Amino acid sequence: MSYPPIHITFLGTGTSSGVPMVACDCAVCRSADTKDQRLRSSILIQSPGTTLVVDTGPDFRTQMLRKSVKKLDAVLLTHSHKDHIAGLDEVRAYNYFQKKPMELYATEATLNRVKMEFDYAFSDFRVPGIPSINLQYINERTAFTVGELQVEPISVWHMRMPVLGFRFGGFTYITDANRIDKASKEKIQGSKVLVLNALRHEPHISHFTLKEAVALADELEIPQVYFTHISHQMGFHREVETTLPQGRNLAFDGLEISL
Ligand SMILES: [Zn+2]
Ligand SMILES: [Zn+2]
Ligand SMILES: [Zn+2]
Repeated sequence: MSYPPIHITFLGTGTSSGVPMVACDCAVCRSADTKDQRLRSSILIQSPGTTLVVDTGPDFRTQMLRKSVKKLDAVLLTHSHKDHIAGLDEVRAYNYFQKKPMELYATEATLNRVKMEFDYAFSDFRVPGIPSINLQYINERTAFTVGELQVEPISVWHMRMPVLGFRFGGFTYITDANRIDKASKEKIQGSKVLVLNALRHEPHISHFTLKEAVALADELEIPQVYFTHISHQMGFHREVETTLPQGRNLAFDGLEISL
């Protein structure tokens, strides 16, 4: 069965603080190059019949406005860290115009956190205007479908926290990992395009460095890999790009690819 054509937009490619970072005076945070300006990490996936986002961080509202996303069928969450869920309340706009709850796909652990963080959205007494969210429980073992898109969840490690990556046909999106087990690597292999997190050059306890991410991209033999979840400590986009081998690139906000 052939996979529907998908169009991917990088809505944000920054780490939890975004770039520029509040109150930072470093050269990267002061850069005038728009490729050095990174909202919190998220992607938009559009097929002829289905539109979804992976993660709704603090910049979700800005990202939906920038890209003028009029229709949104579902939100997929990788994990419950604030930089990936903080903007979820803004699905209210889609509730209003689409006249239905937003479908939210995540693991039980992630959805339990969502229910705590946005408790008012799940109370028995529904105040008008609160977000309406339909919880869709998924697990790392079972593929699921969102509209016409089959999605393969891939479990990766963020220090001790399990995080979900997602594979859509030939495209795989992984963020917030610093270790990937053999079984999950096998699920990624064969992808044409892989997005992988790479925080900076210096080691970090819960994120791949750029060097580690490049080595993993080579090990998995993926022809085109884009790095995301980038810190201001990575350096200037333009300079880092010149150091990378062919088929290995830093992602940037607004980057679009079609498969
Ligand atoms: Zn993150
Ligand atoms: Zn900075
Ligand atoms: Zn995280």
